Order: sequence, then structure tokens, then C-alpha cells
Amino acid sequence: MHPELETLLGRCRDLPTPPGVALRVLELAQDPATDLAATAEAICLDPALSARILRIANSPLFASATRRPSATVSQALALLGLNAALSLALGFSLATTMRGGAQAAGARERFWRRSVLSAMASRLLGERAGLERLEELMLAGLLQDIGALALMHALPARYASLDAAPGGVPPLQRERALFGSDHAEVGAWLAARWNLPAYLQRIIGHHESGPYRGDPELACVSGSGLLADLWLRAGGAEELRAIAAELERRTGLSGPETAHMLERMSASAPELASLFEVRLEPHEARGLQRQALELMVVRNLVEVRDAADTRREIEALKARTRDLSEQVRRDPLTGAYNRLQLEEVLQREFEEALRCKRPLSIAFIDLDDFKRINDRHGHLVGDQVLQEFSRCLNGRLRQTDLLARYGGEEFLIVLSNCDAAAARATLERILAEISRTPMALVDGVPLYITFSAGLACQGGSDQFASAEDLLKAADEALYGAKRDGRNQVATPAG
Ligand code: GH3
Ligand code: MG
Ligand code: MG
Repeated sequence: MHPELETLLGRCRDLPTPPGVALRVLELAQDPATDLAATAEAICLDPALSARILRIANSPLFASATRRPSATVSQALALLGLNAALSLALGFSLATTMRGGAQAAGARERFWRRSVLSAMASRLLGERAGLERLEELMLAGLLQDIGALALMHALPARYASLDAAPGGVPPLQRERALFGSDHAEVGAWLAARWNLPAYLQRIIGHHESGPYRGDPELACVSGSGLLADLWLRAGGAEELRAIAAELERRTGLSGPETAHMLERMSASAPELASLFEVRLEPHEARGLQRQALELMVVRNLVEVRDAADTRREIEALKARTRDLSEQVRRDPLTGAYNRLQLEEVLQREFEEALRCKRPLSIAFIDLDDFKRINDRHGHLVGDQVLQEFSRCLNGRLRQTDLLARYGGEEFLIVLSNCDAAAARATLERILAEISRTPMALVDGVPLYITFSAGLACQGGSDQFASAEDLLKAADEALYGAKRDGRNQVATPAG
């Protein structure tokens, strides 16, 4: 802890000290030989504490419907068990005697209100987590912020300047900036000074920082403060959501579970409020309902948002899958479809043409003297020509036509629902246009090409047994075009 602050707190006469009965209970708690009789004896010395212990033993928190109410402290202790009784006695005696003091009465009232709510929430969270020694958890919940109380007592004006939340626990960073230490550190120091049990010292020192994973007691206690905040805070949805999110991080409590937990706190609140003599005003209970509702709404919003995110992710994945499957169907150099896709489409179109008695034309295209382009200008220029040629060709086809790179400088066009005459006209037009269009610039000089095309048409006068036969016919026609001097469109001989 910050040395100056330690000196100051050490000298502070106003600092709350545990009353005699609490010290005695502490002693008993740390003595392995302590039994119920010795504890009862100590508690009986303080009539107010005795009454409280009796009341809590008979309260709905502990009493069972089938048992007779406890009439004496001894009976009450027998019901509660030694550990629970010691924890409760310590909690009561500390909480009730440290309530006094002239300064900042309102802030202290709020502080204890939050502490009592935290004690209850700790117990409920512990129950949910299947933990034992719930009264010790309750005590830890009650005392976790005892450091804030010490700061409030020792430096009331400075403490008041902190923009405290309704529960009286401002953000740690602001405490550190103002006091050199935060309330968790001060609390741990105080707990050591009072010789509180080791588990309390540990929880008080770490309840704001964790690590919570693997430490369920610490997680429950630290979560209890947040549940108390949710109860008390009249914050907006954004603030509630932030607290609920932090609560979930620390304890795993989901939104609906949180709302349920707040309802259970609401049910036990009157009993606990009267035991600890704190006022939990009805409006707070009403506020709680509203907040629980709001929390559910906020939660729903979060879930809706999460669902939207998930949908977006799914859409993105689908798009990516589409892209990838499109990629495997395309030739990387020219972007035209590859043979895999060609074979699929050609087969499908051929069957469709037969079934619907529609014409289907295909054209085998081979660039003329392409090898010379490579030889003269290099492969990079050759690649550029192939790309540009593919682009120009594709731009001159219908949406329903398919252009595929068959291999090297050979392309194949599938013209669906297109007869021989229309196909020839299309190809001749394209040949004329492309032969006038520069495919690359070499040192500023435009480079032109021509191609030869072999056409074959299913339907009309030609009937083919298979798509393969149709392809073979187009290949033969191409051979004829080459033989007859290139730069032309040819159909199968005969
Ligand atoms: P023809 O008019 O008889 O078709 O003559 P050609 O030179 O076009 O035909 P040939 O089959 O003799 O040569 C084709 C050339 O295309 C040979 C090969 O190196 C080249 N080629 C094939 N694929 C690619 C490629 O992806 N990039 C480049 N730059 N050249 C390619
Ligand atoms: Mg060739
Ligand atoms: Mg060629």
C-alpha cells in the first residue's frame, strides 16, 4: 500500500475497529478447539447480536418449515453450525458497530446497503456454484469493500470528491489516482490488521482484480458486488449491459440467470434488510423489477446483435465458398472457365438441347501463329495477349454463352440455343472485330492477332450421339480452318 496512506490510516482515530464481541468471535473462529458452547457464550454477552442470530436462524434463509423455531442462541447455533454461526456473528457485529460516525452518513448508509445486498448475492451465487460454507461467502460479500469504508472514514472530504456510484465504490483507477491505493488494497491491509481469517484477506484483496478463473469463491464474491450494483443502479441500458457483461465474465451468469438472481435477491431483501438494519426502499424493489426487465431486453438486444453477427459471418462464409468454388472452375491466367467447368456445362447443355429440341452450337478457337508472338516478344507479352483476347471475346458473347480456355491458346465457346447460321454469323463478326483490335502494345506498337474457329452444331441437319462427338466435330472443323489458311470460321466438311 502507498506508504503515506498507510501512515495516515494507521494514525486515524476515526477508523472503524471491530467491537469487543467481534474480536472475541474472531479469536474463536481461529481456534481449532472452539465449539458451539464457547461460541454461544461469546454471543450471549451481546444481547443485540444474540437477537440477530436468533432471528437469522428462524428466518426463511435458514429455517425449515418442518423444524420448530430456535428459542435459544444454543439452539440457533446448532441449527446454523459452527462456521456459519461464527461468520454471521462476525458479519453482524462488524456491520452494525461500524455504522456510526458523524461524517458522510448518507454515503455510509449507501455503503452498507450495497454490502448487505452483496452478502446476500454472494450466498446465492455460491449456492448456484455448488459451493459449501455459504455463510463465509456471505461474510466475504459483506466485507469485500471494507477498504472503501476505511477511506471514507479517514479522508471523508477527499473520498466525497470521488464520483461514487450509489453503492459507494468508485472505479479503482480514480481511487488510486487520488489516494495512491485502491479500496481493495486498503481493505486487505485492514483485514490483516484486524487479523481476519486468511480467506477473507485474500478475497478482500483480490475481489476487484481476480483472477476469477479457478477461484469460485472469489468469483462469487466479486460477482455479488455487481449484482448489488444492478439492484441499486439507476443507470442506462448501456451501463447495465456493461455490468451484466462483467458479471458474466466473472461468474458465467447469463442474462436470464442474472434476472432470476435479482428476483431471488428481491424475495430475501426485506428479511436481510431488517436483520442488518438497512433500508431497502420499496422503490428500489420496483426499480429492480424494471432493471431486471431492462436487463432481459438488453440481453435480447445483445442476442439479436450476436445472431445478426452470426448471420453476417455465415453469409461471408457462403460468399467465400462461392468464390472458392468459382475459382476452381476458372483458368487463373485469363479468368475464362477451365476444362472442368466446360465438361460439366457442355454435358448439361447437350442433354438440355436434346430434351428441349433446341439447337446448341460450339466453337473451337485457336489463335493463329501464336508461337511467333511468344518467340518474338516473349512469354509475358504472349500471356498479355491471351488475357486481352479472352476479355474481348467474352465481352462479345451473350450472358448465356460460356467461354472456356481449353488449353494453351485454344478456347471453346458454348452457344446455347444457337443454330449453325447464327453461330457462324456471331463468330465471323467477332473475328472481324478482334482482328482490328490491338491485343497488346509492344514498344508502343500495337499487336494484332487473328484466330481460326471450328464450328459444330447439334440440331438442324446435324445430330450427334454425344457431347464428345460434338466436340470432336468442332475440333475437326478447326483443323480444316487452319489447313485452309487460318483467320476464318469453318464448319465440318461434308
Ligand atoms: P497455329 O496457327 O497453327 O495454331 O500456330 P500456333 O503457333 O498458334 O500453334 P502452336 O500449337 O505451334 O503453338 C502454340 C503456342 O502457344 C505454343 C505455346 O508455347 C504457347 N502457349 C501455350 N500456353 C501458353 C501460355 O499460357 N502463355 C503463353 N505465353 N504461351 C502459351
Ligand atoms: Mg494450338
Ligand atoms: Mg495456334
